[in-house]
Amino acid sequence: MPQYDFRCKICGGRFSLHFKSVANYAAATPRCPACDSVDLARVISGVAIPQAQRDYRKMSSGEMLSVLEAGEKKQVDDMFRQVNSTANDG
Ligand SMILES: [Zn+2]
Repeated sequence: MPQYDFRCKICGGRFSLHFKSVANYAAATPRCPACDSVDLARVISGVAIPQAQRDYRKMSSGEMLSVLEAGEKKQVDDMFRQVNSTANDG
């Protein structure tokens, strides 16, 4: 069963919808459960952090936040290790 993740462009809420088939998804008009908006952006699961090894020191705070939100322990650990080593380097 295909699952589609969305982010609402109006309120920023994220939610997932399940459809029996791709055709059902194509025929449906997904709405934000929070604000009933149809102005949604598809979120492709797992694409936010494709590589385990990234240079987190060059990341923006927004990108770092997305790592934290993703909750991948290894990536969060790597990020803090890199950020801490940067602080030690002066
Ligand atoms: Zn919304």
